[in-house]
Amino acid sequence: MNITIAKTAGFCFGVRNAIRVAQEEAKRRKGPVYTYGPLIHNRDVIGKLEGQQIFALQDPTELKAGDAVIIRAHGVGEAVYQKLEEASVKIVDATCPYVKKIHDIVRKQGELGDRVIILGDPQHPEVQGIEGWCLQKPYIYQTEEEIISDAPPKENRYTLVAQTTFDQYKFRKIVEFLDKMEYNLYVCPTICTATAQHQAEALELAKSSDAVIVIGGKHSSNTRKLYNLCLSECANTYYVENAEELSSVRLKPDALAVGITAGASTPDYIIQEVVSKMSESNIFEEMLNESFKEIHSRDIVSGTVAQVTDNEIVFNIGYKCDGTMTKAEFGGSDAPLTEQVQVGDTMEVMVVKVGDSEVTLSRRRLVQDLAYAELENAMENKEILTGIVTETLENGVIVRHGDVKVFIPASLCDVRRIDVKTLLNQEIEYRIIRLQRKRGRIMGDRRSVIAEKRAALREETMQKLVEGAHLTGTVKNITNYCAFIDLGGIDGMLHVSEMGWATVRNPNRYVKTDEQIEVMVKSYDPETQRISLTTKFPETNPWKDAAAKYAIGNIVTGKVVRFADFGAFVELQKGIDALIHISHLSRKFVKHPSEVLTIGQEIEAKVIDFDEEAKRISLSMRELEPEEPETEEEIQTTEEE
Ligand code: SF4
Repeated sequence: MNITIAKTAGFCFGVRNAIRVAQEEAKRRKGPVYTYGPLIHNRDVIGKLEGQQIFALQDPTELKAGDAVIIRAHGVGEAVYQKLEEASVKIVDATCPYVKKIHDIVRKQGELGDRVIILGDPQHPEVQGIEGWCLQKPYIYQTEEEIISDAPPKENRYTLVAQTTFDQYKFRKIVEFLDKMEYNLYVCPTICTATAQHQAEALELAKSSDAVIVIGGKHSSNTRKLYNLCLSECANTYYVENAEELSSVRLKPDALAVGITAGASTPDYIIQEVVSKMSESNIFEEMLNESFKEIHSRDIVSGTVAQVTDNEIVFNIGYKCDGTMTKAEFGGSDAPLTEQVQVGDTMEVMVVKVGDSEVTLSRRRLVQDLAYAELENAMENKEILTGIVTETLENGVIVRHGDVKVFIPASLCDVRRIDVKTLLNQEIEYRIIRLQRKRGRIMGDRRSVIAEKRAALREETMQKLVEGAHLTGTVKNITNYCAFIDLGGIDGMLHVSEMGWATVRNPNRYVKTDEQIEVMVKSYDPETQRISLTTKFPETNPWKDAAAKYAIGNIVTGKVVRFADFGAFVELQKGIDALIHISHLSRKFVKHPSEVLTIGQEIEAKVIDFDEEAKRISLSMRELEPEEPETEEEIQTTEEE
């Protein structure tokens, strides 16, 4: 095997310089030095630097006068320098000269009256540093779309700079776009040549290699960029963070020319470790042996995503050829595969077909197999499962268990007949009662689960059924004379005469179906299982103190609530109605109560009879009217008086 290492692999000039400056300062001070943000995005290197007394600053306010602070290659804005000077710390400036040049450009052009446009990532510290040297707030864009949605005014002159690692191709396109829009631009191509050379060399290396190893941190954007570039030229490109990860690389036996490159934050020693591990003959032997392994259909293998398009995934499965999987066999959501998996993802897959130059894979079938195994086990153990009803049919419902559909016939959906449509999108409990894997048929049963739960609930409710017990129940059914209340697995009857202390004529006006109400057990016969309920709670009995309030002779007020041919009923308080007989409505002759009263009218009357046992009160309005003279003599006497 012939291994070629890219000349530009690893640290760029700016990063190498910043690390050297920090190391020299730490050596000189023989004590800790601090860097304004991590010098590099690589955990290994950060750990090693900490061993050399170089620490990334977490909170600048913790600095003490005399401490040394290294400004990293990304650079910082002018305000940061001022703050550090005020804190009397020693500033060791390791800003990359390419970045420093951009600071100078934006400041000088700003002084000439230009507004600044920066092409780059506004969250990146380098861009934030450049912004800190602009005299007016700059416009920062990454795409043409961003320019369209927040277009800068055309009357200004603009100086355009780019983040040093900005994509060259995109840079050219955006400049052309702004030109077309007729902006007055002074373009400064500030993209770092180190990055461009790095990328160009990686591309050339990929073209001439059978396989490429790209080394770098998984969060390093420039390493990922290198990886994608190499992948576009060489399908056998692998991304590793260090030498240990080489064990996941499955080189093909015919990979004789191997290229190695590394991201800008990868230190030399990691590159060397990878190269020396690759040079060990036994590693290759191992890799080759694995590449010759045999696989068969229905085998389950581990695959690493090597390429992904919207409709297909190519997996590296450690076999002499790659495996492919269609979107249908992936079995995920409807979204394009590029939104569901990423290059580098690892997953277990099932081999469907082994060809000479291609292996067909499926994740869906593996997931389905696992689901079947799980359901078989659940059926054996009569386990209760939960699932969402995703479809309703004429004769039942479908519940999804992972990628597998379970059919529950309408007759097994409930203990009583229900409209199965009401179950759509509901989470329900069921158990599997039949499973035919070959025919893909699985039948569930919800009825037995409900019946068992009801039986258990009923048992629990029965313990509470003693006269006078207060229970909460749900109104299940209403008839003309009563309502049936589900007390939990068992129903009780609430007769219309027991619906509160006031007279109830229509049960539908007192309770509603599915409403939860509080009831009291009036009687319970364990033999017939008949339960009579009441809502006439003794503590709310309005007759408790009625004898004193409505004693004969008392003048009371009330509201006329209904008429009868023989008189009018008056509500004295909730639950107590009294009667004014027609002969007691007035001293005059009254044919019907509606002649002198209206429903809802507030009246005053005198209690003329009170019978607590019969719950009857009689009133008279007539007795409150002054007596009229009856004879002419009496009239005359009255007039003379
Ligand atoms: S500008 Fe270039 S050389 Fe300087 S730090 Fe950035 S990538 Fe490295």
